[in-house]
Amino acid sequence: MKLLTANFISCAVKACKSSSLSFPLHFKDVELASTSVPYNPLLLSNLLPRLDWPALVTSSKELGFTLPDTKPELPRLTATAAATGDGDMNMDNTVGEDDEKTLKMLHKVLMETEVVEGKMVCGSCGFEYGIHQTVGNFLLPSHLV
Ligand SMILES: [Zn+2]
Repeated sequence: MKLLTANFISCAVKACKSSSLSFPLHFKDVELASTSVPYNPLLLSNLLPRLDWPALVTSSKELGFTLPDTKPELPRLTATAAATGDGDMNMDNTVGEDDEKTLKMLHKVLMETEVVEGKMVCGSCGFEYGIHQTVGNFLLPSHLV
């Protein structure tokens, strides 16, 4: 399971829906793996506006990564670079050195880091969602539905 997934999941227990403690779920006893994924700044820059940044910072910290406290403001990249096929960015798509650093960090955290085994714990009810062989099980046992 990628860390990105944690940014879109909150506890499914009904009583937790209204609790701010049910998001994000907290990683516990995690075993991480790193996979090499082609660097795609366009994808990252499109993803960035949709992320809940404070939640991502929290989740990242739990996995041992430090992200800046405030969401980086990156220039919006366009598809031009992707369309040319050579992967080079044209002049409109150049990003500064600091932005590049942030993008590389996000790439490592969001794209290349995988939780192989572990748990995600709800801060409201304490329910533990298991992660086994990279797959998170977010189904609740029948007595909690
Ligand atoms: Zn809960």
